[in-house]
Amino acid sequence: MGRAIGIDLGTTNSCAAIIENGNPRLITYKGGAKTIPSVFAIDKFGNRLVGEEAKRDAALNPNSTVEAAKRLIGRSFGSQAIKKFTQVFTYELMEGEASEVLIKVKDQVFTLEQISAAILRRIKESAEEALDEEIDQAVITVPAYFNDRQRQAVRSAGKLAGLKVLRVLNEPTAAALAYGLGRTLNQRVAIYDLGGGTFDISIIDIKDKIFEVIATGGDTFLGGVDFDDRLMQHLLHEFLEEHDIDLSYDRRAVTMVRAASEEAKIQLSSVMETRVQLTGIAEDEDGKSLDLDQVVTRQLLEKLTHELVDRSVATCEKILREAGTSPDKIDEILLVGGQSRMPLVRKRVADFIGKAPSRKVHPDEAVGIGAAIMAHSLSSKAGPQDMTLLDVLPMAIGINKADGTMHVLFGKNQPLPDYKTRTLTTSKDNQRSIMLKIYQGESKYVAENELLGTFVFSGLRAAPRGQVKIEVTFHIDSEGILNLSARDRDTGSLVESRLKLGKDETGATRPKKRRKKKVEPPKPPPMPLNMPSSSLAAKAAGDQDPSDEPEPKSAPPPTPIPESDRELPAERKGFFAWLWSLLFGWMSR
Ligand code: AMP
Repeated sequence: MGRAIGIDLGTTNSCAAIIENGNPRLITYKGGAKTIPSVFAIDKFGNRLVGEEAKRDAALNPNSTVEAAKRLIGRSFGSQAIKKFTQVFTYELMEGEASEVLIKVKDQVFTLEQISAAILRRIKESAEEALDEEIDQAVITVPAYFNDRQRQAVRSAGKLAGLKVLRVLNEPTAAALAYGLGRTLNQRVAIYDLGGGTFDISIIDIKDKIFEVIATGGDTFLGGVDFDDRLMQHLLHEFLEEHDIDLSYDRRAVTMVRAASEEAKIQLSSVMETRVQLTGIAEDEDGKSLDLDQVVTRQLLEKLTHELVDRSVATCEKILREAGTSPDKIDEILLVGGQSRMPLVRKRVADFIGKAPSRKVHPDEAVGIGAAIMAHSLSSKAGPQDMTLLDVLPMAIGINKADGTMHVLFGKNQPLPDYKTRTLTTSKDNQRSIMLKIYQGESKYVAENELLGTFVFSGLRAAPRGQVKIEVTFHIDSEGILNLSARDRDTGSLVESRLKLGKDETGATRPKKRRKKKVEPPKPPPMPLNMPSSSLAAKAAGDQDPSDEPEPKSAPPPTPIPESDRELPAERKGFFAWLWSLLFGWMSR
């Protein structure tokens, strides 16, 4: 077995870390950088580029450069999220056979998992080069607000990159682990994580050696790229006013203005005024070269983006309410993610919580270090056994009811892991299969939530309607990933269950009639992935409303849940005591 690393797979930048001789160490890339841009491209010679090289290529080949792919991972093509995305990014998206998002780069089509895998592979290779040893395991962080499909997709990307994914860990939780390094704490901390593409807020109680997430939430469409976009729209508008030329139709110009906007935005965190200059960005009717040359101030940037910061603070208020706590009960507020460096963000968060943010974590490094701590623990046999990490489910998971509302199986902020059982029954004589749709999200209505997938329970015995009852166990693991199993309640035999791929053509809003339509077998996407068949990762149609059937009062679960998952996952037991010794070792250096 090779070594395990922690990977912070960011929307704009990614980084990795390891634990070496008890201390965290960030992996450095060519040129000494500690992060690499999460960018993938194919250059004009057909070479695949990743990281800095791909980012440099963006201005030359805007159509063949994929940025911020993390925003798309695990989404279905028709989702609102994708519509929003296409307003900001210009590369070509396509719909796959199972309604997944595909990206066309030059004449090649990629799944999101393949794009992320290319970035992960580069990180793995860089780590192998830096450490001169094989890396084949990793803990990969994800936004706390990622749903099941998104988590599954990140897992698949890791596998495609040749990594055994030891755990998918929530980013704010990872930051809390890094914060706890070397300290004995009894605190309630809020972790405000505003990165390149996503925003998370988690409330975590750190008591002695227990890290317990109380509530988590966020916005997977709020991050640094939105700040860049606001400034970019302003610059494009000013250029239009001045020259009567709309650059927004010119992909090359848009890519250049976006990059310049990000640069100016970052500068404005430390200076009050900067200048954006792009020579030869366009030509007038006479073929004369035109420059974009504009002064931007911090005040202007704040005016353009304060609404984004307000949105993040509104989410903080909501999550504090869900946690049953208030700003005065928060002992420390940790800011992580590059965008949290913006002075307006720091000020608004400080005003809201009523205290200055902690300076004890590095906004760019904390998540990667936390992942490394976890990776080391999970891959090390030697770790002591006395600390605990308890996480929660970021969004409710449920099943559709006949009236289009969601019957919640696992509520938001439900401690993990957990399981539930439900009984489904046949509604027709000799019915041989039952379908069940599963959703995740915060809305009361399933149509406004993400369809995680449709399970088909088949091979039922022939019997008059209502006589076959199958007990379905929904098991949600410590990563927030759902798995299902089912057995015939009377015979005890396991029922074959399979995830059905395909489009949600029935629509989720209307109560559905039972349909005779034959379901076509799923077609593989252009470049197939290794998605686990027992977990939820795709969408399809179905019409069973299992909430019709009451849950058996005290029935034992039909499929035994491993002891380690019902109480403490085994990984938790070894992790924290080991971490503790590590912390002390590191602090006493
Ligand atoms: P992360 O995903 O944590 O790497 O965050 C990347 C985001 O942080 C990008 O949108 C960057 O533009 C933004 N960022 C990095 N440094 C700063 C800074 N000093 N001020 C404002 N935003 C920044």
